[in-house]
Amino acid sequence: MSAPTSYPNRNFIAGEWRAAASGATFAKLAPTSGAVLAEVANAGAADVDAAVAAARAQFDGGEWSRLPGAERGRLLNKLADLLARDAERFAHILAMEQGRPLMEMRMLDLPMSVDTLRYFAGWADKLEGRQIPTAGFMGRPTLNYTIREAIGVAALIVPWNAPLMIGIWKLAPALAAGCTVVLKPSEDAPLALTALAELAAEAGFPAGVFNLVNGMGPEAGATLVKHPGVDKISFTGSTEVGRIIAREAAPLFKRLTLELGGKAPQIICQDADLNIAIMGVAMGLFVNQGQTCAAGTRILVHRSRYDDVVGALAGAAKSVTLGDPLDANTRMGALINARHRDRVASLIESGIAEGAALVAGGEALPDSGFFVRPTVFAGGTPQMRIMREEIFGPVGVVVPFDSDEEAVRLANDTPFGLSASLWTQDVARAHTLAPKLRVGAVAINGWSPLDARLPWGGYKDSGVGRDLSRLALDAYTEEKVVSLVM
Ligand code: NAD
Repeated sequence: MSAPTSYPNRNFIAGEWRAAASGATFAKLAPTSGAVLAEVANAGAADVDAAVAAARAQFDGGEWSRLPGAERGRLLNKLADLLARDAERFAHILAMEQGRPLMEMRMLDLPMSVDTLRYFAGWADKLEGRQIPTAGFMGRPTLNYTIREAIGVAALIVPWNAPLMIGIWKLAPALAAGCTVVLKPSEDAPLALTALAELAAEAGFPAGVFNLVNGMGPEAGATLVKHPGVDKISFTGSTEVGRIIAREAAPLFKRLTLELGGKAPQIICQDADLNIAIMGVAMGLFVNQGQTCAAGTRILVHRSRYDDVVGALAGAAKSVTLGDPLDANTRMGALINARHRDRVASLIESGIAEGAALVAGGEALPDSGFFVRPTVFAGGTPQMRIMREEIFGPVGVVVPFDSDEEAVRLANDTPFGLSASLWTQDVARAHTLAPKLRVGAVAINGWSPLDARLPWGGYKDSGVGRDLSRLALDAYTEEKVVSLVM
């Protein structure tokens, strides 16, 4: 299979493919060349209104509202089957729109997307309430029980860095719970999710259950957030935009899940197996060109292993082949757009200016496309911008420490708290340190434990609530009490 020659590019509203009401479009560029991949519908308020109205109609008494959970599960399983059938096509669309190696899509995003659909399909008929004994009401016994009810219309706002996978992290539990949805992909990666809407139609979801609007964050996204017909917002993206959404949604008391930025530490203890650690640390740092919320960019190393780690990571960075995402030899593609490449390049410059030692990479490639060489700094100190800000590019900083206590202090010295890695062969040390890290996930001798069955979310400025696992179902349901006085 080669690169697709055309992409679905409209809005999907009430089961119909529609151009924006205004006729407006925006150009989605290929990260590896800067060429236009597709002209995509640019939704405005009228399109968002229509999508929310379609979702409301299905939720408030439409066919969907009467469908048993087992049937919702069947539809989700059908969608999983169709995505598995079309996995190669989706891997190609993602590779083209993200500029990311095809191999990563085949190994990571596609299998996880299919698995997540199946996992939540299995929950759709298991959303049970509870029977709760009490002392009764005014001397009379009561029968108390709870019902799990879908929250309503969910707005799902998705970033560009893993669009299909993260879209499905939200879509699958929302539909399993019985919500209806309006999904807004990122304007930087709209194509794979728009193609998923085609599969939702083929799977047989009733028209209006899964709506998708393409458009800009401050317009289509902001309109969705403030829309009176939206009950729940699930957002993954930057901490900056998360803060705006929290501010807008708070007075409206909308239910909110926020999955935000990260600045993950990777702690290499004195007893770590360096062969395994270097491979894992490099993966955590460079996968998806470093454009992951869990990117392990702060590499904290016991001083006794520091020189070895700096040398090995610099070697790993220099050995990465950059290039065409569809080429089997490519291990790293391009950053998502020119603005982002320039931001990453300026953060690299700040690292040099603030005195960190550049040991690999350090430059953006001047050719076409938005490439930045995998970059490693040594001698980072806590106040440097490259240690404090989320870079979201292939840039790591190695920092020495002298004791476990210092490693924990350095690891927690950040406003973020999404994930961390711990590399050690000492089981007691691993389980002593893991609880001390103020993050939502700790991988011991691995990176970023992402699996549909495990909760995923942040402490501190990395967000509120959890995607994935059974906890994600709580995010799309209310628990109602019914109490019968006997
Ligand atoms: P972003 O915040 O710029 O955009 C995310 C989405 O929000 C896009 O769809 C965008 O159009 C929309 N948006 C922008 N402004 C909006 C507004 N005012 N109102 C409503 N919607 C608006 O983020 P991005 O650049 O697409 O993604 C990168 C960020 O996402 C990084 O910070 C990364 O760490 C974070 N991220 C977090 C997780 C996680 O699970 N915690 C996962 C992936 C990415």
